[in-house]
Amino acid sequence: MPPFDPVTPLKGLLVLLLVFLPIEFLAGRWLALGRAGAATDLWHYGVGYGLGRGVTDALVLLLPPTETAIARWPLGVQVVVALLLGDLMYYQLHRLLHRVPWLWQFHAIHHSSPHVDWLATVRLHPLEVVLTKIVQMGPLYLLGFSQAALVTYTLVAAAFAFGIHARVPWRFPLLRWLVATPEFHHWHHAREPRRNQQNLAAQFPLWDWLGGTLYLPRGDRPQRYGIGLPVPEGYVAQVWFPFHRLGLGKGKRTH
Ligand SMILES: [Zn+2]
Ligand SMILES: [Zn+2]
Repeated sequence: MPPFDPVTPLKGLLVLLLVFLPIEFLAGRWLALGRAGAATDLWHYGVGYGLGRGVTDALVLLLPPTETAIARWPLGVQVVVALLLGDLMYYQLHRLLHRVPWLWQFHAIHHSSPHVDWLATVRLHPLEVVLTKIVQMGPLYLLGFSQAALVTYTLVAAAFAFGIHARVPWRFPLLRWLVATPEFHHWHHAREPRRNQQNLAAQFPLWDWLGGTLYLPRGDRPQRYGIGLPVPEGYVAQVWFPFHRLGLGKGKRTH
């Protein structure tokens, strides 16, 4: 991995703007940066980026360097296998984030946005950022994928993450069953408690199909997004929210 450069997240943001601004504008004249909560999400973006890099660097330092036969597979094969494995790990973690009450208090931050667009991708509690990185990347490092495959995997996974949140009404026939699309992930954000237990994968609906959690109805889209919890608006308040709910503050849990 190249050394951390504070300019890189700004370049990343520029790329995201160049890609998603025209797409969302064409799809519905939507300006994610102009909506309520955008400033909070930008804080999530900056902190999440730094944390993600920190955990990745820590994994490289802490895990023994493994050189296995996998590193000699063709790059494309390594990336597809890494995506499948990484998504299976994420599927299991995501399931726990929804089912274990204390974990849900942290994951609720991601679901709190009443808007689902590319910028809402990054609304994640720092603890969830760390957990996800460890669960997804740890096994891939241990299995001995090549550096090039891991870097490509990270980029493709990030592209999927932002892509499935994009605020577009388009449906992708056939493809919608093979890879995660905005339609697939927007159902996961629907403001219906039953729905956000479904479509838990980030790249392959296959894992939801096998796990019995797939929901892709014909010709329908969610009417409202978000959850019923009183998640506050500001960045610091959102980071504190789960701890407060778990009894470390003055409030009490009501989930
Ligand atoms: Zn999401
Ligand atoms: Zn979720």
